Amino acid sequence: MNPFALDGRTALVTGARSGIGRAAALALADAGADLVLCGHRDDLGTVADEVGDRGGKVRTVVADLGDPAAVREAALRVLAAGTVDILVNNAGIIRRGPALSIEQAAWGDVLRVNLDSVFLLCQLFGGPMCERGYGKIINIASMLSFQGGINVASYAVSKHAVAGLTRALANEWAARGVNVNAVAPGYVATANTAELRADPVREAEIRARIPAGRWAQPDEMGGAVVFLASAAADYVHGHVLAVDGGWLSR
Ligand code: NAP
Repeated sequence: MNPFALDGRTALVTGARSGIGRAAALALADAGADLVLCGHRDDLGTVADEVGDRGGKVRTVVADLGDPAAVREAALRVLAAGTVDILVNNAGIIRRGPALSIEQAAWGDVLRVNLDSVFLLCQLFGGPMCERGYGKIINIASMLSFQGGINVASYAVSKHAVAGLTRALANEWAARGVNVNAVAPGYVATANTAELRADPVREAEIRARIPAGRWAQPDEMGGAVVFLASAAADYVHGHVLAVDGGWLSR
């Protein structure tokens, strides 16, 4: 038996249209899972077709994760249509700027999408998982779950909290058959980091500090997500798995 196989499992991935979310959805589909792709707007790009090409069943759901009522409504709709075994809380936003200039509204936007929606989705999908005695939750954390970063206070706070939430829920749910873990990507070439990569000085500084000597591609996050979603990680609880080219070891 392949301990990484996900045949017969259904995985929901938020922020599945692009970047790490799309890569995670495709990796889960490659491992045999059916997918529920959660997008921000009607346009989910090519990802649904790409999952379908891999042979898995695919459903889509649209919700603004900054709106708790919309999150709840979308989650209940998904649950009414079938069981979700694996939840990947991937969607996230970043607002760059010095702490002294952060507007309250922008602070709230980041916390609502990156943290509040993650907790709400964990509650809504984690409840049925605890009842069934089976489930895998994978939150997407960050290097800024460990470090303060530069001019990204709201993001760093949200990602530290995602790591804390991961550990807190693992303590509550491990004995109920639900694994709650996180993947902490290093510096990945996605829309989230477009501004950094467009600044030649910051781009070079960051690359020089990465022991692997390069930025990651989104599909390099997929294996860690599949591992944490699989039977191979049944005894892994509350872990924040850095996939960072060695960044944290420096
Ligand atoms: P990305 O391509 O910008 O992906 C972010 C995703 O979140 C998009 O699919 C976006 O949907 C979705 N999203 C944003 N606001 C939303 C909202 N209000 N409601 C629902 N969905 C929303 O960037 P990414 O790098 O792949 O980011 C994915 C995750 O990885 C984020 O949590 C990010 O913090 C984390 N991360 C990224 C890096 C990195 O270096 N790139 C490093 C560490 C952690 P739309 O495109 O439709 O708006």
